[in-house]
Amino acid sequence: KVNSPLEVYKYLPGDNCGVCGEETCMAFASKLINRSAKLSSCTPLLKDEYKDKFDKLEKLLAPEIREVEIGTGDNVVKIGGDDVLYRHKLTFFNRTALAYDVWDTMPENELIERVDHIADFKKFYVGEFLTADMVAIRSVSDDPQKFASTVEKVMKATDLPLVLCSFNPEVLKAGAEIAAERKPLLYAATMENWQQMADIAVEYDLPIALFSPNDLDNLKSLAKTFSSMGMDNLVLDPGTYPTGKELSTTFNNIIKIRRAGIEGDRDIAYPIMAVPLTSWLVHKEKVTASYWETVIASVFTIKYGDIMILHSTEPYAMIPELQLGDTIYTDPRKPVTVDPGVYEVGSPTADSPLIITTNFALTYYTVESDLSSNGIDSYLVAVDTDGIGVEAAVAGGQLTASKIKQVLEESSFDLKEKTSHNTVILPGLAARLQGDVEDQLGSNVLIGSADSGRLPGWMDKYWPP
Ligand code: SF4
Repeated sequence: KVNSPLEVYKYLPGDNCGVCGEETCMAFASKLINRSAKLSSCTPLLKDEYKDKFDKLEKLLAPEIREVEIGTGDNVVKIGGDDVLYRHKLTFFNRTALAYDVWDTMPENELIERVDHIADFKKFYVGEFLTADMVAIRSVSDDPQKFASTVEKVMKATDLPLVLCSFNPEVLKAGAEIAAERKPLLYAATMENWQQMADIAVEYDLPIALFSPNDLDNLKSLAKTFSSMGMDNLVLDPGTYPTGKELSTTFNNIIKIRRAGIEGDRDIAYPIMAVPLTSWLVHKEKVTASYWETVIASVFTIKYGDIMILHSTEPYAMIPELQLGDTIYTDPRKPVTVDPGVYEVGSPTADSPLIITTNFALTYYTVESDLSSNGIDSYLVAVDTDGIGVEAAVAGGQLTASKIKQVLEESSFDLKEKTSHNTVILPGLAARLQGDVEDQLGSNVLIGSADSGRLPGWMDKYWPP
């Protein structure tokens, strides 16, 4: 894979026209290398005369691990597309897609209720809602008609992308026929059924998972066979053993596949599937099965699971699964931030406190949630600290009195006019800025609690000033 901007530059038009948003083609080339720009942003390169160069660049810049799309339109889930083994070397792309299962022997009302629960689940976390990605429909009856009818009902109930699960080609074909236009993932081709499964994938032009439990040679030869037949939208499932020694074998298998793919073995450079749902095959107690399912999901979110099939839909299982994926797939090069500014929490009045924090999203939303959940109407000021938390920003000079003054001015928030108290509350960890802030703003400064969780107690004691 190309690593040098110079190597990329030689295929660009070299006009330095700025259409891509960069001042020079070389700057654009650097962005292409670290995947912070898209090739199509260089519109001059889309002209016919550059077609060969565009094609060449597209190939050079393709991620090591193939990116596979499941679903259509606004409801596409992309998986894979990674270039590195370790997140800090670049970033991971395409958060692990979580598919929660339903099955074709469920009574209709329970089926719809479960699909609705999966589709409606959301958890607010650091400024966004985390949601489930997909529904996996399992054939338990092994009856093609029953499976097709379940697929139809699920499609009516949700637009979420689908995984169709059966090892029986007749059953899977019946489901594919109904759902083809939604581009579901077929699960799965094995050493026994691969020819018929390949026919279905070709006929309906669908991505397909290849399953070879604990046999990487067979998995690779399946992948080579499908690729030689023109199918490259593949997902590899090396089997997920949920307990003991076999779990460590699964772990090693998944690492081997990803390492080989990143190191250039194109035959196995596809997204990987883990199936934490297998926990339910060995643990009879619901809580134990659910607990271990979540543990397994966490392990393979960190280590290279691009898509997973899960069963437990209780919040205690879904929240950590979704939250961990969000954390691992955040770009470590860019701290998650909120826009600097003065935000209203609740319905503040002139008597309400004005509280300073940073624009690091995790800090901002923690403080915001501590204030709003305790009914403290207030003005919350997010200072632009380049997304750095309070303590480090004070030490590093990103949180200063002049930065606080700047954000208030840019937000046209005149403390003397808008509040009756002309008082600023600094975070406890920024106490050393007190004198500077008093001087620059001409306001009173109070030192709040070090931890926003203690703000309600602090307010009882010190507010109003
Ligand atoms: Fe260069 Fe293309 Fe960007 Fe123009 S749009 S500056 S030609 S890379």
